[in-house]
Amino acid sequence: MLRKLDRDSKRQNRLIVVSNRLPMSLTQEADEHWTAKPSSGGLVSAMMPVLRRQGGVWIGWPGTVDASREQVAPALEQAARETRCSFEPVMLTQEEVEGFYHGFSNEVIWPLFHDLFTNCNFDPSYWHCYERVNHKFAEAVANVYRPGDFIWVHDYHLMDIADALKRMGLQAKTGFFLHTPFPPLEIFLKLPWRFEILRSLLQFDSIGFQTLRDRRNFLQCVRALFKLHIDGAGSVVQLHVTNQDPEWSTLFDNETAVERDICVGSFPIGIDYQTLAELAEQEPTAAKAARLKDDLSGRQMILGVDRLDYTKGLPNKLQAFRNALERYPELRGRINLVQHVIPSRSDIPEYRQLKFELEHLVGEINGQFTESGWVPIHYMYHSLPFEDLVAYYRAADMALITSLKDGMNLVAKEYCAAQVDETGALILSEFAGAAAQLQKGALLVNPHDIEQVADGIYSAFKMPQLERRNRMRALRRTVRTQDVYRWADTFLTVTTNRDPVHVPYTEDYLPRAQ
Ligand code: UDP
Repeated sequence: MLRKLDRDSKRQNRLIVVSNRLPMSLTQEADEHWTAKPSSGGLVSAMMPVLRRQGGVWIGWPGTVDASREQVAPALEQAARETRCSFEPVMLTQEEVEGFYHGFSNEVIWPLFHDLFTNCNFDPSYWHCYERVNHKFAEAVANVYRPGDFIWVHDYHLMDIADALKRMGLQAKTGFFLHTPFPPLEIFLKLPWRFEILRSLLQFDSIGFQTLRDRRNFLQCVRALFKLHIDGAGSVVQLHVTNQDPEWSTLFDNETAVERDICVGSFPIGIDYQTLAELAEQEPTAAKAARLKDDLSGRQMILGVDRLDYTKGLPNKLQAFRNALERYPELRGRINLVQHVIPSRSDIPEYRQLKFELEHLVGEINGQFTESGWVPIHYMYHSLPFEDLVAYYRAADMALITSLKDGMNLVAKEYCAAQVDETGALILSEFAGAAAQLQKGALLVNPHDIEQVADGIYSAFKMPQLERRNRMRALRRTVRTQDVYRWADTFLTVTTNRDPVHVPYTEDYLPRAQ
């Protein structure tokens, strides 16, 4: 009996995770059949245990336009048997990938939400395609939905899905988490589809942001474009809406008096600290890290790991490094910038342009400072196996992150987790979401202030071991206690109205006058 009840309750509380990509990469083998390999990453490692525990389905695009649903089905079924939750593919055509993914998601929302609206291409056809594809995702959700399921939608690709679900008449509990920043009002207002996007977001029962900054921006937009009543303070607030109010009536599909509470919170995402720290501790990683250090013959390693993206402030980083070498000659021959740039979105012209700019700058700086036996910047344009990345994290004397704006920046947290010897220093942009949580311990810098970043490099270079250790210990404590499992649990607990839970309140970082 007990077992049956347990099974039933499991059935009633399934989790449906919806994201642009399924958590696996598909490969076509020589005999033409498709195989699926689980992908790594924070979201995947956070969601899979929850999905296994509660039972559930992950819905997303399998990442290929070259296969039919029938062709990928056996690979996904095999993956489901191995992971004990199921995967539902949303098949996209090449045209949909262009308009929805490259177009609206990455040429409109991505730059706009990172405050770079001059990079936006507000092509109306992109929006229409985005609506259509979100509708397609909503249909996939409706096909697997059973009463009692909780639908958790992730990220900026799928902001219109709740509206599509409501129009289909699905009465489900839904939550949304935005992994990117949310822009301030004056930037958001430039979006031609600002009402549609806000209205659709407000169809979710709960909306999560990375930081208070993002949540504040969102509420400011809602307040400006609609009237609202906000209850509560702290990390989570309630928007109270009723269809008796003409401003809100569009959020309801019936005439009788109805009230809804929408929970809006800041839930900074974490990483799988334990797994990463354990990998960093292992002998092969230690040996790799030692080799990387040896290669630099005692010079301090400044590590950069960034996807090729104009939001990462890569030109600023290189200019700051040059400035440090110019203003602090004692650094010459004693430090190296080891910069890994991870290929990304290379079909978009701005990204190709950025790559040329970086290669040019690296060439210029190396040409200016290289001496016999010392080349200041080691620049690599590639993806790294995870074990190698962790060895770099462990070996590096500093990590340098200069994002112009970043939802969180997981590299900052991964660096801390892998710093098992606690000898590294973190130089972090104050505009990364991680700055709020890591302000005690990191050297926070404004990436637009090249001299300040250069000073940060010099301070870290000279920082006594004891100070490095104390700072790194504080950073690791934060990253360990606020890991990705806690993030998922907190979001789900708050938004599915289970037990009350303490949501850590993390003030945004604000610079102080010197
Ligand atoms: N990463 C990766 N391949 C690499 C190097 C890094 O997948 O070759 C991962 C890294 O471990 C981190 C993520 O990419 O988890 C980057 O996340 P972040 O939040 O720093 O930036 P994003 O790329 O999401 O904007």
